[in-house]
Amino acid sequence: MKKLFLSAFLFIAFISVHAQVDVDAQKFANTITEADLTKHLSVIASDAMQGRETGEVGQKMAAAYIAEQFKMLGLVGPVKGDDNNGFYQKVPLYVSEPGNIYVTTQKGTHKNFDGLVYFGSTETPGEVNKEIVFAGTGSAQDFENLDVKDKAVLILSESTWGWRSAARTAKEKNASILLVVNSSSDADFESLVERYSSSKGRLSLERESSDSNDGLFFLSPSLAEEMLGMKIEELKTGKKKIKPAKISYKIGINVREVPSENVLGYLEGSDLKDELIVITAHYDHLGKKGDDIYNGADDDGSGTVSILEIAQAFVDAKNAGKGPRRSILFMTVTGEEKGLLGSKYYSDHPIFPLENTVANLNIDMIGRVDPKHEDNPNYVYLVGADRISKQLNDISEKTNDTYTKLTIDYTYNDENHPERIYYRSDHWNFAKHNIPVIFYFNGTHADYHQPTDTIEKINFGLLRTRAQLVFYTAWTLVNMDHRLILND
Ligand SMILES: [Zn+2]
Repeated sequence: MKKLFLSAFLFIAFISVHAQVDVDAQKFANTITEADLTKHLSVIASDAMQGRETGEVGQKMAAAYIAEQFKMLGLVGPVKGDDNNGFYQKVPLYVSEPGNIYVTTQKGTHKNFDGLVYFGSTETPGEVNKEIVFAGTGSAQDFENLDVKDKAVLILSESTWGWRSAARTAKEKNASILLVVNSSSDADFESLVERYSSSKGRLSLERESSDSNDGLFFLSPSLAEEMLGMKIEELKTGKKKIKPAKISYKIGINVREVPSENVLGYLEGSDLKDELIVITAHYDHLGKKGDDIYNGADDDGSGTVSILEIAQAFVDAKNAGKGPRRSILFMTVTGEEKGLLGSKYYSDHPIFPLENTVANLNIDMIGRVDPKHEDNPNYVYLVGADRISKQLNDISEKTNDTYTKLTIDYTYNDENHPERIYYRSDHWNFAKHNIPVIFYFNGTHADYHQPTDTIEKINFGLLRTRAQLVFYTAWTLVNMDHRLILND
C-alpha cells in the first residue's frame, strides 16, 4: 500500500513537472548562447570602452553599440523626439565642483586645499560668520544637550569614518556646518588633500543642492589651532575649555551639466500589448583611475550583454509567430554607479505608464561566482521576488525548477540583511512604485569594483544559464492571462 502510494505520487509529480515545459520557450531560450554573450562582452568590457563612466566617451560608445544592436534586432526606439532612432532617453545630470571656497581666521585667509577640504555641494550667499561649538568626537552623547543650531560644530574624529554619523547628527540638529579634524598631523592631512583635490565631483539629477546645511570642512590640525587660538592636544585632554571663537567662510560651487543616456529597445506585444515588463541592467561603470581601466565585465557588462541576448531570443520568437502577449521594454541604464541615477530618471519620467508596468527584472552581475559558492557554482542570488507579489516568487521558483535548476540563494532577500541589496540596484526605482521586481545577482568577489573585473574571469556557461532563467521568467510574465497578483 505504502509502495503503491509512493509510486503513484512520484508519477503525479513527474507529470506535473514535465507538463509545464513549454517547448517554444525552450527553443528560444536556447538561442541565448555562450558564443553570443562572449561576442558582445568582448566589446562592452573592452579597454576601448574605458570603463564606461557616466558622461564620458566610453559610456557614449557603449550606448551606441547597444542602440545599434537593438536596431539590428528590429526593436523599436520608443523615445519620442530622440534623434537616435528613439533609442536614447536623455538623462541630464549635473556635477558640482568646488569653486571659490575659503575660510578666514584672525591670521589670514585659507583657500580650499590649503589646510582645508570642503565636502558638500551647498553654495553660501556670500561670506558667512558662525560661532564655533565643540562636540568632542561627534558621538550622539557629545551632541546631547548641545545647542548647535546655526553654529559651526567642531569635532575631533578619531576614526576614519566617524565623521559620517556626526555629519548626520549636525544636520538633524540644524548646525550650519561641521568642522572635522581627523588627521593626526599636517602631513597626514596632505594625503586627504591629495585624495580630494583629484576626485571628481558628485553627479546628481538636481542642479541645486538639496542639502539642508553647508556640508563640512576637514581642517588640518594647524588650521584648527589657528582658528581656535589653542592646541588640539589641550582640547583633546580637556585641559582647557574652548575659547569663544568664530569662523568666517564662503562656499562657491560650479555646476556643470553632464548629459548621459538610458538606452531603450521596445518589443510590442500582441493582445495584451498595453501592459509591459521592463528588463534592466546598467551599462555604466567606474571609468578609469590613472592608467587603470575598470572594465566592469561582471559589473555590469554581464547584465548588459544578457539584455542583448534576451532581446534577441524574444525577437526570434516574434518572428516565428510566437511573440509575447505583453510588450517588453529592454532598458540599459546609465548612472547606476553614481547612485541609481538613470533608473531613477526613468521612473520619474517613464516612457510607458508605470501603472501598466507589470514587473521589472533587473540584472546586475551574473557572470561570476562569489567565495561562498566556489564549491557549488550553479547558483544565483535572487532579491525582492516576494516583497510585492508572492505570485512572482512562485513563478520564479517554478521556472527555475522546470528549466534552469540553479540553486536559488535568498540570503540578500532577508529584510534585515546589513548589505541592504534590495535598495542598491536599479530595481529599487521600480519597487518603490509598488511594481514587482526580481533582482538577479552573483554576489561580490575580490574583483568587485576593481580594475581586475575583466572578461577572462567570466564564467560564460553560468552567465548563459542565469540569462536563460531571466528569459524564461519573462516569458511566463508576458504570456500569462492575468497580471501579477500583488500582496495585501
Ligand atoms: Zn553594478
